[in-house]
Amino acid sequence: MITSDLSFVKDQLEKGEVVGIPTETVYGLAANIYDEQAIAKIFSTKGRPNTNPLIVHVKSMDQARTLVSYFPLKATLLAERFWPGPLTLILLKSDLISDAITAQQSTVAIRMPNHSATLHLLESLDFPLAAPSANPYNRISPTCAAHVEDYFPQISILEGGNCEAGVESTILSFDGDEVVLLRHGAISIEQIEEVVGRILDRTSSESLHLAPGRSKKHYSPLCELIISYEPLFMLSAVQQKKVAILWFKEVKIDSPKVAINHILSPSGNFKEAAANMYDALHQLEKSGVELIIVERLPNYNLGRTINDRFERAAAK
Ligand code: AMP
Ligand code: MG
Repeated sequence: MITSDLSFVKDQLEKGEVVGIPTETVYGLAANIYDEQAIAKIFSTKGRPNTNPLIVHVKSMDQARTLVSYFPLKATLLAERFWPGPLTLILLKSDLISDAITAQQSTVAIRMPNHSATLHLLESLDFPLAAPSANPYNRISPTCAAHVEDYFPQISILEGGNCEAGVESTILSFDGDEVVLLRHGAISIEQIEEVVGRILDRTSSESLHLAPGRSKKHYSPLCELIISYEPLFMLSAVQQKKVAILWFKEVKIDSPKVAINHILSPSGNFKEAAANMYDALHQLEKSGVELIIVERLPNYNLGRTINDRFERAAAK
């Protein structure tokens, strides 16, 4: 059920239920971090292996400080610059954080989301919320309440419109004085480096348990998907009958072999393309196409994040 009733959602969370919440990145599947059974329900609802840790959503910097044992200077600078916003910090946890949330690790993932309804909800609660994205394990992320309802008709979902960023948070960890990128996200490397200088990119390292958002296959539609700088070249080689092409800013050449041409951002804007990306996949999947060919974006700023998601959606 989709609802705008904050006090009803608050009540559900206090009773130990799992609810859908809007954020500026994607919708989350939220529960009280201090309720062990509610946390277990997140994993079972999503079908997520319990080796994949959850992100904790806080209402303030002060609340975040209670959940960690140490807040490095660079992490403080980044939180001051980007919170509330799509930046997740991996920090050494305090005793308040259970092993179920961190998948037995000594670190916890924390962010302050930038969505007014969810910030009001967090303000009204006396506990933070653990929330991974509200999609079944490895499926397309949800960017509106209806996407969540399609996946999980049994839960209550707080209405919050379409997600403004529409792509997951950027995840950073801290290794001595180094800032380490673990997952590309809604804040670009370029924006992070403006605050703390050069950072290390470990998004393709193989220690997958650290950030399952990086597991090779993720964010996938049920049909086949491929990504290429030259969609029309790929088209000449495919056998499928019903094919869609997902273009960045324009249909380069139309072909009778293409059932649907879908454009992510007619003005060629990365932010708009990111905000539309998951909804485009949901729509194309529903249309019953057998193959989606995605045009690869220029590989800088958010183009890099969008390419990362499509590469994982394409992985077998
Ligand atoms: P989701 O909210 O579905 O995008 O998933 C949460 C993301 O945060 C996953 O990629 C997790 O692996 C990552 N994450 C959560 N806790 C940690 C942690 N302690 N260390 C590294 N990554 C984490
Ligand atoms: Mg996810």
